Amino acid sequence: MAARPAPYLDDLNPAQRAAVEALDGPVLMLAGAGTGKTKALTTRIAHLLNSGKARPNEILAVTFTNKAAREMKERVAKLLGQTVEGMPWLGTFHAICVKLLRRHAELVGLKSNFTILDTDDQIRLLKQLIVAANIDEKRWPPRMLSGIIDNWKNRAWTPDKVPAAEAAAFNQRGTELYAQYQARLKELNAVDFGDLLLHVLTIFQTHSDVLAQYQRWFRYVLVDEYQDTNVAQYLWLRLLAQGHRNICCVGDDDQSIYGWRGAEVGNILRFEKDFPGATVIRLEQNYRSTPHILAAASRVIDANEGRLGKTLWTDKNDGEKVRLIGHWDGEEEARWIGEELEAMQGGTRGQRPMNLDECAILVRASHQMRAFEDRFLTIGLPYRVIGGPRFYERMEIRDAMAYFRVACSPDDDLAFERIVNTPKRGAGDKAQQTMQRAARANGVSLLEGARLCVSAGELTGKAKGQVGALVEQFDRWHAKALDPKQNHIELAEQILDDSGYTTMWQNDKTPEAPGRLENLKELVKALENFENLQGFLEHVALIMDNETDDGGAKVSIMTLHGAKGLEFPAVFLPGWEDGLFPSQRSMDESGLKGLEEERRLAYVGITRAEELCTISFAANRRVYGQWQSALPSRFIDELPEDHVEVLTPPGLYGGGYGAAGMGGGSTIVDRAADANVYNSPGWKRLQARQSTRGMSQPQESRNMTIDSTAVSAYTQGDRVFHTKFGYGYVMGIEGDKLDIEFEKAGSKKVVAKFVVAADR
Ligand code: ATP
Ligand code: MG
Repeated sequence: MAARPAPYLDDLNPAQRAAVEALDGPVLMLAGAGTGKTKALTTRIAHLLNSGKARPNEILAVTFTNKAAREMKERVAKLLGQTVEGMPWLGTFHAICVKLLRRHAELVGLKSNFTILDTDDQIRLLKQLIVAANIDEKRWPPRMLSGIIDNWKNRAWTPDKVPAAEAAAFNQRGTELYAQYQARLKELNAVDFGDLLLHVLTIFQTHSDVLAQYQRWFRYVLVDEYQDTNVAQYLWLRLLAQGHRNICCVGDDDQSIYGWRGAEVGNILRFEKDFPGATVIRLEQNYRSTPHILAAASRVIDANEGRLGKTLWTDKNDGEKVRLIGHWDGEEEARWIGEELEAMQGGTRGQRPMNLDECAILVRASHQMRAFEDRFLTIGLPYRVIGGPRFYERMEIRDAMAYFRVACSPDDDLAFERIVNTPKRGAGDKAQQTMQRAARANGVSLLEGARLCVSAGELTGKAKGQVGALVEQFDRWHAKALDPKQNHIELAEQILDDSGYTTMWQNDKTPEAPGRLENLKELVKALENFENLQGFLEHVALIMDNETDDGGAKVSIMTLHGAKGLEFPAVFLPGWEDGLFPSQRSMDESGLKGLEEERRLAYVGITRAEELCTISFAANRRVYGQWQSALPSRFIDELPEDHVEVLTPPGLYGGGYGAAGMGGGSTIVDRAADANVYNSPGWKRLQARQSTRGMSQPQESRNMTIDSTAVSAYTQGDRVFHTKFGYGYVMGIEGDKLDIEFEKAGSKKVVAKFVVAADR
């Protein structure tokens, strides 16, 4: 194919262009947030196609989320000014591995219609094994074992490869249970998420012919968000690219945020070793954010040690400073953000009017989302939760999916177990045990076990007839699921109706029932985008984000982890409190590793913002039903003052932040935190309001006598509490200031009225 004009190259800067045009050989693009790495990678795909270097199916491009993959496909199509026909190999590691594994399942002892277990199934299976092994599941919970096994899989350790040093895990039984678990999965013709990659890796390692085939096939390999690949993924990539070495990885060490899931920043350093002579390209111009936002992000990440280090600049206009605001509690925070969003739409904040699609709220922990959802529902502000409590995790959806799963793969025991008695068919625990036994004794699936029990008359009463009928129904549905002429939407409706599942909810009188029926309709609607049930099931097993979209503008709510690679004109970053962000776990850890990862997450958060970035914290927060008071995040201290504007929460705090000499310090957080709660005329009002709302007192304030106490009220040795510095003891008194030795913050002089007596 003759090279065609490449107008898309004109949109790139010279460094990006170099990365795009260096089509052959290894390329590593290492650059900060918003410098156009993804843009360059996408353009590279377009260029490979357009220049005739590669056909679509010769390119393998790995992205981190399904959303990113979708966007990349769209962008490539746009760059080329046409839809790209047949570009099947653009997706997440998991999505690509599912495809590969379906083709070669038999090489690892699976059938090609294997099922992908979700976490729930996985936990249920592990629980069975733990109980069978006579291990106390209270002391050794299945969830813990699942974490250990996932971790091993991320490091590409099959049961026989787990090093001796790790064998002590899970009461010395970890590897044994891991091996049993893998065996059980094979019997079930099932895999878990980690297996998808691990099985393919095993196939590549043990079948050189298969590997060679794919090495020839995927002549160009591209990887986005490379800093977050784990060892197994790295080995996988390296095997694929070893022959031709046409591999292009782009990443940013400062955005490595999946260390807890086994990602290794070291993979970046390893790249140059494994692919000597690699072209290393650095990008420095940020095209996304205003200088204030960029400065704030750069300063925060500066506090990390051992960075590869890089320069970032932008030629954008200054724009607004990063805004910082403190609130009384999480509900106030949600209320304020809701009002801001409303004002922003009308442009009444004095800025350009913004569409809700342009705004995002990025939280550290998904439990933070609820406050926003509640508030936005109340005021009717459209929102979407990305990657949050998922549609597909709801009970009725999982039940329906279990029916579909058995219809597609009759030996999916876990799915069959889930629905054999839903709706009630008289098949309680005892009947189910009988079926289990029959299945095991005959080495067949649970469905077959049920069939055997029915014909042998081992089921009694209601179960006999009804389970028998269900088995027959599954035979029919399975035949239809295999029939390419069968309309799968009709089949799905039929399954839900004939099984009695829909009727069960129609007869249900609980307030949730109508919603559940709605969800089931929604589920059937979702099928329209797929060719068959199998494809749909696969999709659901893989998706990490669900967006049911009516097309209207909505503010996005998602976790910081889920926001990687994305950008929004306006970003809200709530919950910047020690213990929440950085997380308590990272603070409790010895060493800085966890804390540095949290800081990178802060960097990711700030750098998602294009024009407006608002950071907030609350003095009190209800976490899992418990009130806790909190100190503003240590990351707030790391923000550069010149680039931050501290806002006064409306109404509540009387005097606001302006009073002189507050807190005896001049950092932003001193002002923000001091003004935040205890020094305000609104304090008593808040207390009153709190009790009328029937809320319990914040944890720490229960131990305090709240009083804007004059300096004379204190004597040496008094225990006190300060919003920012925490607990301490009064060491001395000077004028209106107290000399306090804080337990964590060390010795400080603070104005007496900004501390409260703590009677512990
Ligand atoms: P992250 O590290 O957050 O993933 P990134 O380096 O992948 O960021 P992109 O998302 O590719 O950055 O680009 C950031 C923004 O800058 C996008 O809106 C993109 O369209 C724009 N951009 C990138 N390169 C250029 C360029 N050369 N000229 C103009 N705009 C650009
Ligand atoms: Mg990117």
